[in-house]
Amino acid sequence: MDKRTSKAAQKPDNHGPLPATSDTDFRVVAEDAPVMLWLTNAEGKIVFTNTRWKKFVCAGSDTVPLGNDAWVDALHPDDLGPCMQIFHKAFLEHRSFQMEYRLRRADGQFRHILDTGEPYINKEGKFAGFIGSSTDITDRKNHENQLRLSQLELMQHNQEMQFINELNSYLQVCVSLEETHSIIEYYAKKIFAHYSGVLYLFDGNHSMVETAARWGSANCLSPKVIAPDDCWALRQGKVHVVEGDEDAILCNHIIGHCGQGYVCAPVIAQGEMIGVLTVTLGTDGGSGDKRMLTTSVESRRRLIAMAADNLAMALVSLKLREALRNRSVRDPLTKLFNRRYLEETLTRELSSSKRNGQRLSVIMIDIDHFKKYNDSYGHDAGDFVLVEIAELVASKLRAGDIACRYGGEELVLVMPGAPKEIAATRAEYLRDAIEKHEFVYRGKSLLGVTVSAGIAECPTSGDTPALLMKAADACLYRAKDSGRNRVVVAGYESVPLD
Ligand code: GH3
Ligand code: MG
Ligand code: MG
Repeated sequence: MDKRTSKAAQKPDNHGPLPATSDTDFRVVAEDAPVMLWLTNAEGKIVFTNTRWKKFVCAGSDTVPLGNDAWVDALHPDDLGPCMQIFHKAFLEHRSFQMEYRLRRADGQFRHILDTGEPYINKEGKFAGFIGSSTDITDRKNHENQLRLSQLELMQHNQEMQFINELNSYLQVCVSLEETHSIIEYYAKKIFAHYSGVLYLFDGNHSMVETAARWGSANCLSPKVIAPDDCWALRQGKVHVVEGDEDAILCNHIIGHCGQGYVCAPVIAQGEMIGVLTVTLGTDGGSGDKRMLTTSVESRRRLIAMAADNLAMALVSLKLREALRNRSVRDPLTKLFNRRYLEETLTRELSSSKRNGQRLSVIMIDIDHFKKYNDSYGHDAGDFVLVEIAELVASKLRAGDIACRYGGEELVLVMPGAPKEIAATRAEYLRDAIEKHEFVYRGKSLLGVTVSAGIAECPTSGDTPALLMKAADACLYRAKDSGRNRVVVAGYESVPLD
């Protein structure tokens, strides 16, 4: 047994060698003991192993060499070195020892063994070798590992739930869908650390599904926009799991190989399909996250589905808040801001402009001879023209500008920070664009739609909402009076274009 070794630290010796006993006595008692026992001589050579031990290592065959060779042969090669060290030390010092190693059982399976050796003395009181027992601790070790993994999984689950809760609390105070995208991305990186993913949300028409957030490095999730039919989760309204991509039913939006597979979880709230959350099952690698990757596919599927449900609830309630807010500040026909919103905002913007020493311009636009339009083509055609003009004006807005429907067919554009000359250029551009625009209603071209515009500026035309609107209205009146389809700027005879 001179080749013996161990993984465990040497056990402190708290008693002396076992008292002298007859070697033969021990063998008789040990032979049929229900534990694996062995005995070495003073040179460390195994001189006895009991039936249990032989059965374990070589199914009890007597032809297999007894002792050291059989033991070394069955020992896991990686454990040989450490075992040798412990045994040699114990042997030199005649001290008891414990060591753990893997031993190949007769059926070929490596089992975890705990070996305990005690020195014993002969009748003359001299060290005579070691008596030892070998215990198969594989099941215990497996249980311990299972327990450790469960604890890690629990910790990871708690951490993920905490991130989901934090994400929810941010989503609850978001005021627009756009605002949620970067927050979702930030938390998705934490919740699905190591994994790539993408959140697709339906566009306004519910015809395409667009990327709202994306994280990780997996190329298989790269399309920016997908069709609803491209995803099995969207088609079926339930979670679609692909484990590995061999022989799997892959969604069309998955490009090439997706490593160990992916999970698509539909984002559905109150029966409304909002989008789909797709997360890979294979890790990206190289991430700095310290959490162990212990979770099974089933627990990942549950996490992804739970995140999708949370997102669904948060996004639906946000959409509802947004709709309610819009209803109170938006005009239902043109979708521009309403007059109440204009009055509130103008007051706020004016005080901010005055504080910052900036100018602010207001463009008041009125459709020319609109009564005649209604009379000639009907009120619906009139509505159509009004909506088209509103869309045209809104499409040319710059960040910070505010477009409102002031009254019947009068629109107002508030341009914080813009002097009236800039406002004039914009108004003239719009006037020209509207004059050239072809209004086709129910297959019929509506001809000759033009607008007039009046422009006033803070502080030169006035520094209160009332004064400013009055000045813009006066300019609009002048534009109408001088022939319509033109722009009049406060303080100018004609449009001051460069
Ligand atoms: P002008 O402005 O060039 O002096 O002539 P106008 O005919 O446009 O006169 P005014 O601005 O005084 O009249 C506004 C008309 O616009 C009254 C109404 O028939 C029409 N109008 C106002 N709001 C709407 C609307 O929401 N839809 C439609 N179809 N027509 C509207
Ligand atoms: Mg008009
Ligand atoms: Mg009018």
